[in-house]
Amino acid sequence: MTRAYNFAPGPAALPEPVLRQAQADMLEYQDAGASIVELSHRGPEFVAVASAAEADLRKLVGIPDDYAVLFLGGGATTQQALLPLNLASEGQTVDYVVTGHWGKTALKQVDSRLKLNVAASSESDHFHSIPARETWKLTPGAAYVHVTANETIHGTEFRHTPDVGDAPLVADFSSSIASEPLDVSRYGVIYAGAQKNLGPVGVAVVIIRRDLLERAGLPRAEIFNYGVHNKHESMLNTPPSWNWYLAGLTFKWMLAEGGVAEFARRSQVKAKMLYAAIDGSGGFYRNEVDPAVRSRMNVPFFLPDETLTSKFVSESKVAGLISLKGHRVLGGIRASIYNAMPVEGVRALVDFMHDFQKRNG
Ligand code: PMP
Repeated sequence: MTRAYNFAPGPAALPEPVLRQAQADMLEYQDAGASIVELSHRGPEFVAVASAAEADLRKLVGIPDDYAVLFLGGGATTQQALLPLNLASEGQTVDYVVTGHWGKTALKQVDSRLKLNVAASSESDHFHSIPARETWKLTPGAAYVHVTANETIHGTEFRHTPDVGDAPLVADFSSSIASEPLDVSRYGVIYAGAQKNLGPVGVAVVIIRRDLLERAGLPRAEIFNYGVHNKHESMLNTPPSWNWYLAGLTFKWMLAEGGVAEFARRSQVKAKMLYAAIDGSGGFYRNEVDPAVRSRMNVPFFLPDETLTSKFVSESKVAGLISLKGHRVLGGIRASIYNAMPVEGVRALVDFMHDFQKRNG
């Protein structure tokens, strides 16, 4: 068996020790006589898995006690729909800063009973930049301000937490959570689909300041209510237990590797190496994002034409570097280099890029 270096944007590569542990637990979890995926979520085995996962995530990300942590099915898009329902009341304004495809997706999930204000957008700049904070047109009394911390497709990343005054800052950290130290207390809500840095697809993490759970929000079913989910410790209904368990293993792996400080260091090394290869190629490879806000996690780049792009994708696959084809929205190439991607994987990609250019440049 050969495992390739997998640059997929999500579902993304999982650490091999996590997969091996899951493989070992697949037929029988500890002495339970069954796999964890076959056991009740209310039984002692899964309850222990769930609480260890929360404790480990709290330690990893540095989540203060006045924040609740929810593990929910439905991915990040569902949270984009639940956030407005839970945090805003009828007729209230919600502010959004749009810096890429996922910020635009978030806009589409806002309930029509609310007033949506796009406070800033870099769309006219093809999402190559993040609008300067001074240009944002925030609404006094807005229910919250939403940003996308890292844009997975367009490859932009906030390098600083913006100051938005009294409104809670709500941030989509799907593709960058746990990749560098984060001051959670600057945010009202941090949410993330797990399938990039935190583990497998099928579970999303919502880190929410407890006072926000008390907001009335819009009339909604219980299953869409964060406060009710919190009261039931994310087990209002059957949770995605296998995915939650795999995420828990991934948290343990990240802690054992040195935690977010270590992943921040590795991310710097990987991103620097890859952007240097692109910028040093004399224009053969191009990344058009403002260098001040280039993502450390998702690196989109372009070759001179479509033929070379297809050739790059097929030859890289043969070289053991998979899932490099860019998103259909942008085309080109995209390398996603999350926590589970080792430095050696990026080195192998950079070596391949040099070689490919030599043969085709
Ligand atoms: N936000 C970001 C930043 C993403 O990268 C993605 C998925 N790639 C989403 C939201 C949507 O996530 P999901 O598919 O889990 O709904």
